[in-house]
Amino acid sequence: MNPRLLYPLLALAAALLPARPARAAAPPARPNIVFVLSDDHSLQTIGAYNLRLSKFCRQQGVTPNIDRLADRGGLFVNSFCGNSLCSPSRASILTGLHSHAHGVMTLDKPIRPGVWTYPDSLREAGYQTAVIGKWHLASTRPTTDYWRILPGQGDYWHPDFIGPNGRETHAGYATDIITDMSLDWLRQRDKTRPFMLMVQQKAPHRNWVPPPRYYRWLADVRVPEPETLFDDYAGRASAAHDQKMEIARHMDLAVDLKAFAPDKWPGEMKRMTAEEQADWIAVFGPRNAAFTNAHLAGRELTRWKYQEYMKDYLRCIKAVDDGVGRLLAYLKAEGLEDNTVVVYASDQGFYNGEHGWFDKRWIYEESIHMPLIVRWPSVVKPGTRFAPVVQNIDYAETFVEIAGGKVPEGLHGRSLVPILRGQTPADWRDSLYYHYYDAGHGVPRHNGVRTDRYTLVHFYRTNEWELFDRKKDPQQLRSVLGDPAYAKTVAELKTELLRLKTAFKDDTE
Ligand code: CA
Repeated sequence: MNPRLLYPLLALAAALLPARPARAAAPPARPNIVFVLSDDHSLQTIGAYNLRLSKFCRQQGVTPNIDRLADRGGLFVNSFCGNSLCSPSRASILTGLHSHAHGVMTLDKPIRPGVWTYPDSLREAGYQTAVIGKWHLASTRPTTDYWRILPGQGDYWHPDFIGPNGRETHAGYATDIITDMSLDWLRQRDKTRPFMLMVQQKAPHRNWVPPPRYYRWLADVRVPEPETLFDDYAGRASAAHDQKMEIARHMDLAVDLKAFAPDKWPGEMKRMTAEEQADWIAVFGPRNAAFTNAHLAGRELTRWKYQEYMKDYLRCIKAVDDGVGRLLAYLKAEGLEDNTVVVYASDQGFYNGEHGWFDKRWIYEESIHMPLIVRWPSVVKPGTRFAPVVQNIDYAETFVEIAGGKVPEGLHGRSLVPILRGQTPADWRDSLYYHYYDAGHGVPRHNGVRTDRYTLVHFYRTNEWELFDRKKDPQQLRSVLGDPAYAKTVAELKTELLRLKTAFKDDTE
């Protein structure tokens, strides 16, 4: 077109169009929230955390998408649970309360009737809400607009989901299905309203059943062993000696390591089709034959178990990471990246052979830590490592503050939004309260307090105490409770434990 004609036409069009509102006058859109919660994912198997296995995980590409999230957002290095077990931690995340107050002190208990959960406030604030995947809160049902949850622990293969209209089976591998369902929900949402999506993966929970695409991955590499794989528990109270979570003595060759024929497999692998079972046998059959012929015993057997456990665990994590990558790609493609807060966490930590253990439960380091990574463009400076002591009781208030909603009085946690903004309140906590009640894996009830340097533990049924000076003993190998040099510290920490117990009104034992 002749430019002399074009310019007057453009001017006319501009005059007819409504004026674009000034940028400053537009109210800021409330951010969306995507919260990915996995199950039993340890910090040391996330590259970004720079812990024992992080270098290996970076080299092997175990968590490239989660690492990218941390690189472009912030990572909490002092993030903890208050009771290291699935159901209690999930209930604390939802309610902002410690176990004794929400009622989920052990596994498979519902949240006490009438207790507030954060999706209530998000809905009130006008958010669309959804939870998809592992829920694990007995008869408690989500109060989100949309929910599809696994019954109990759920299955890795062809899992059942429960929704408002009952139960249905989905064909395929759980981690991928949960991601698919999450993306489907995002696609059909009301695009005029903000949303909160909770993507709750079952993986990498025991019995660590990986997807077929990763059966061969890591087969030829050696996972670094922890220095404490053959810990003798000297220097600790009776609990560490009496537990039942040792790779050597308690990890099951049939169910955990699938070292025998399919009739000995865990139940969830029996849900595979004949073809899927054949695919598994084609890869792991030769491994199992070699294992049987090797007649391993003693430390060599423990080492074999550690390798195979870790490889299945990491294969499960790799699929979780794939799901994170797909969610991030969707947000980017839809132009939602800048205005969506993405959070990655797991319900507690996990032992990857440290102290010879798998599982969690203890107040000790690998167990009590929770990964927590937050990407919030325009608020969180990329690559930040947040040092304040945060807990799962803080998530509920954080999500509600991000959404501009209201929380009830009397919650135990505090919003992390000031910390995310780089303005940690002067009166932020510097010690944390812990109370574990379940009896699983032979770990007795205990409570305790953890500060930046010390961990004080009370096994109150036997009235045994432990004190760890983590500055001198980061692996927590020797309790210094009886050492006179620590008498003053012990007295101070006992006072602090009592203060916390009283402040949270915890009279349970
Ligand atoms: Ca868990």
